[in-house]
Amino acid sequence: MKRIAIIGAGLGGMAAAFDLRRAGHEVTIFEAANYVGGLAAGFKESNWDWSVERFYHHWFLSDKEIFRLLDDLGVRDRVVTPRPKTVAYYNGNFYPLDSPMAALTFPGYSFPFGMARFGFVTVFLRYLAGWRSLEKTTAYEWMQRYYGDRIYTNLFEPMLVGKFGPHYKEVNMAWMWARLKARTTRLATFRGGMQAFSDLLAERLRKEGVNLLLSTPVQRITPLEHGGVQLDSSAGSQTFDVCLSTTSPSLMASLAPSLPGSYLQGLLNLKSMGAVVMVLSLKQQISTQGYYWYNMPKTAGYPFLAMVEHTNFLSPEYFGGEHIVYCGDYLDTDHENFNLSKEELLQRFLPGLSRINPQFSPDWVRNAWLWRTAYAQPIPLLNHSANIPAIQTPMSGLYYAGMSQVYPWDRGTNFAVEIGRKAAQLILAGF
Ligand SMILES: Cc1cc2nc3c(=O)[nH]c(=O)nc-3n(C[C@H](O)[C@H](O)[C@H](O)COP(=O)(O)OP(=O)(O)OC[C@H]3O[C@@H](n4cnc5c(N)ncnc54)[C@H](O)[C@@H]3O)c2cc1C
Repeated sequence: MKRIAIIGAGLGGMAAAFDLRRAGHEVTIFEAANYVGGLAAGFKESNWDWSVERFYHHWFLSDKEIFRLLDDLGVRDRVVTPRPKTVAYYNGNFYPLDSPMAALTFPGYSFPFGMARFGFVTVFLRYLAGWRSLEKTTAYEWMQRYYGDRIYTNLFEPMLVGKFGPHYKEVNMAWMWARLKARTTRLATFRGGMQAFSDLLAERLRKEGVNLLLSTPVQRITPLEHGGVQLDSSAGSQTFDVCLSTTSPSLMASLAPSLPGSYLQGLLNLKSMGAVVMVLSLKQQISTQGYYWYNMPKTAGYPFLAMVEHTNFLSPEYFGGEHIVYCGDYLDTDHENFNLSKEELLQRFLPGLSRINPQFSPDWVRNAWLWRTAYAQPIPLLNHSANIPAIQTPMSGLYYAGMSQVYPWDRGTNFAVEIGRKAAQLILAGF
């Protein structure tokens, strides 16, 4: 039996712990926060039956690794699969994009040539098996060339700018391919909210004998002379045969400064965006058409990238009859929204809601919560596959698995589970 440490009780760390413990090893998880779930964590008011994710979250029906884990835990029957509507902006209005037919008839293309071109190129991308040649070109260049100016400008550029801001021309086409390939229009979540899922997984781990330490940030990872690592945390210094870290790349670099320079530099070279998300609970529904997800272009003057009416996905009855709305944005961490107070940001965001529903009035707002994270979205540059740090680091006994390594797939809980379990298999193969 080996002694294994895992840094982080997000879905990646907990999925790895599940397999490593089942293989008979002694597993300790160190988690800095006082809750499990990482970026997928939620919060709950006393009058809500379900939790709300701090950052909007849903699963896709194609999320195979999430469903495999749900099966392993025997809780697939707790998944709900509503059919919410996503809309995109064109010329002052929002149009549904929630089915192949809706996407084909989006008014931002010419009829019938633009519509046929959209359909043809999208089907080509969805059936294209290999992505490697696509990472040599930016999404900006590829989509302009193959979809044409009009479709690119009206549909895809707002998505790229919204997600990557000033970096939108740098992202490679394999990332866009992966999004089109992996995502279904049918969405899913866990009954009770994603926090209920994370809590259930944590409870199962504890029952199986995993030592899950909350509020215990790791401060240093040091190699031991004869193999294994020493972890310094608020619980003191402990030694382990193996450690798997699931933190951001920059934190990983500062936790393990004795990693060889080339690996450290690889971690530090990875680019990413942060996220600023405000959650509002409202007395009334904002989108009276019942739309769930609004993609909003910054060029049209909206103060955020996405407005997500959670209670057009899940019934308000789970939230004490309140209407839950997210106003979210991906930003560089030096953007002023990382420093403004909740009140200041609220004042900037409210006019955006009035543009969605002219009846909206600030006194609809019952409560607001502001969540920010510096590490929300990796930016895959040209030929990114050559720059992904290996899961098995050059330091003996130290492994690393995080959001920046799931490429070409876009980060998500499904891929966190997949890479966590892949890291567990690599660790087991090394014994
Ligand atoms: C705005 C936004 C929207 C998203 N939407 C979706 C969605 O709709 N669907 C979806 O599936 N995914 C979504 N995601 C992505 C998803 O949340 C992540 O891909 C996934 O949760 C990553 O899991 P992880 O375990 O790799 O990392 P994390 O969840 O980041 O877990 C890492 C853990 O390590 C802990 N930690 C950090 N430092 C230390 C330390 N020194 N010591 C101990 N512990 C430490 C952290 O507290 C954290 O709990 C979204 C993310 C964001 C930001």
